[in-house]
Amino acid sequence: EVFAPKLQNINYVEGSGDIKWKSLDFPWTKKLEANNRKVFGNHSFRPNQREVINATMSGCDVFVLMPTGGGKSLTYQLPALISPGITLVVSPLVSLIQDQIMHLLQANIPATYLSASMEWVEQQEIFRELMSGSCIYKLLYVTPEKIAKSDVLLRHLDSLHSRGSLARIVIDEAHCVSQWGHDFRPDYQGLGILKQKFPKVPVLALTATATVSVKEDVVQALGLVNCIVFRQSFNRPNLWYCVIPKTKKCLEDIDKFIKENHFDDCGIIYCLSRMDCEKVAEKLQEFGHKAAFYHGTMDPLQRSYVQKQWSKDEINIICATVAFGMGINKPDVRFVIHHSLPKSIEGYHQECGRAGRDGLRSSCVLYYNYSDYIRVKHMLTQGMIEQSPLASASRRNSFVSNDRVFETNIENLSRMVSYCENETDCRRLLQLIHFGEKFNPDNCKRTCDNCSKLLTWVEKDVTDIAKQMVELVISTGKQYSTSHVLEVYRGSLSQNVKKHRHDNLGLHGAGKHLPKGEASRVIRHLVVEDILVEDVRKSDIYGSISSVLKVNESKVQRLLSGKQRIILRFPAPAKASKMNKPEGTPAKGSLPMNTMTYDMGAQSTNEIDLNLSVK
Ligand code: ADP
Ligand code: MG
Ligand code: ZN
Repeated sequence: EVFAPKLQNINYVEGSGDIKWKSLDFPWTKKLEANNRKVFGNHSFRPNQREVINATMSGCDVFVLMPTGGGKSLTYQLPALISPGITLVVSPLVSLIQDQIMHLLQANIPATYLSASMEWVEQQEIFRELMSGSCIYKLLYVTPEKIAKSDVLLRHLDSLHSRGSLARIVIDEAHCVSQWGHDFRPDYQGLGILKQKFPKVPVLALTATATVSVKEDVVQALGLVNCIVFRQSFNRPNLWYCVIPKTKKCLEDIDKFIKENHFDDCGIIYCLSRMDCEKVAEKLQEFGHKAAFYHGTMDPLQRSYVQKQWSKDEINIICATVAFGMGINKPDVRFVIHHSLPKSIEGYHQECGRAGRDGLRSSCVLYYNYSDYIRVKHMLTQGMIEQSPLASASRRNSFVSNDRVFETNIENLSRMVSYCENETDCRRLLQLIHFGEKFNPDNCKRTCDNCSKLLTWVEKDVTDIAKQMVELVISTGKQYSTSHVLEVYRGSLSQNVKKHRHDNLGLHGAGKHLPKGEASRVIRHLVVEDILVEDVRKSDIYGSISSVLKVNESKVQRLLSGKQRIILRFPAPAKASKMNKPEGTPAKGSLPMNTMTYDMGAQSTNEIDLNLSVK
């Protein structure tokens, strides 16, 4: 049965700025302090921990956005310990649950879990304990499938509730609820039933990744009421970001980068495919690095062996798919390198976030080329990409069409491309904007590639170029690749172009005068904006991939009719740059009115235009 979320007004208030929650005068404050010290061994609270605990202990629904490693677990484990009754925790992965329970038991906090894969006898045992008048457990962890499928569990929760023993409901990794998120888990959508059945029990939802639209999805799907949102900045000042063009010599570049900047340091290299992981690891070993690979097809023993070796510094570099990283708490990861294009900005942010937990300077380097975009897109189409464990744990019983998920994936990917293609704006700003966070690029202090360029940029209206390209695509009969269209536009006289000579509306060579790279920036922008569409297909029996450019009929008219203008930023010529402002903040008034640059007030990230096209 599907529990469709009730439509209601999304109501939440920001709690972070409210001093009420910082108070030391709550009835539980003393107990809180004592247990934080004695049971958890902490000397103090981290940012927002006390506030979140006070709000949930007050009986409010609370939504917490805190970066990975920020200490979310404490915000429900400590209340669970000092509240009467039992706390229900929904968590996406049995391995994460087991890890948590191990830590709780070490601290002498009685906790247990129920999962679908557990022996029935064992489950019976736990249910019996739950029903006993003197249930020993303070925390009960379950996977979302368990809530969706086990009537027995719901009945037991009912009974606990009627005895006043259901203290709190916790939804960990709450972004899995949202299709907009990069870890969508269909079973999370059914969790709205908990609030429906137990409207008075406070819900605490926690996540490290939430864009504005994800946040709204979560609040709505879970049915949170007058929810208080605590969030802190997702900016990580000690991480340095840069995007580097990926060439054939990429592995040599990586080798050099590590040797020059991070000799003998510990790091992660994220790769797209399992084969890439193995190839990259092998090559780095040849270069003399202590590297190993890690991916989903290795058997669990092998995986945990590699992970342990890495944790103990016996291996420096791990070449992994996104399967690697969940629950990893190594503080001294000095670099995270992306060997290929990540699938989404949220995923990218989270993967980078595994670097520099100790607060020391660490590097995040992304090797990008446009052909990786085609490759990733193709792999997405074929379902060939290894998912993060959160997303892959359950695709069964999905009641959301796969098309929908696919579309979101493609959209997320396009945003990632536009991040990489952007050579002017602060990387922090470009990332944080996705989390609905305001960021003043002055605060980057040149810790990203774009801010540290001494160049400034100029804005250029490229609408006419864009129109010509679209017309060219239409006239070529919709059957040529991006590079072919570019060749024609730039006036190539190559055999290939000549061979297909046809009526190009006289546009052959129309872009001859343009600086190198400019035409391709424009065409890629049109793809990212979905005005042109890359149709990816397997071209032949050998399975090589090619793509054909088409126009998106529904979007192209606005451009051709002059309703939409396209403005892109380009690096200013080197000479002029020294006299201008060194850091790429737009001077006030330098953009035409109605230009949407970075409208921080936009309600949803979908409305934020990262590439400065004027609409
Ligand atoms: P998250 O779930 O936000 O990623 P965790 O709850 O797993 O983070 O906590 C990350 C680490 O921080 C854990 O090792 C935890 O013991 C530690 N930690 C949490 N709160 C505190 C605190 N107040 N003082 C010291 N260490 C803390
Ligand atoms: Mg956590
Ligand atoms: Zn910057």
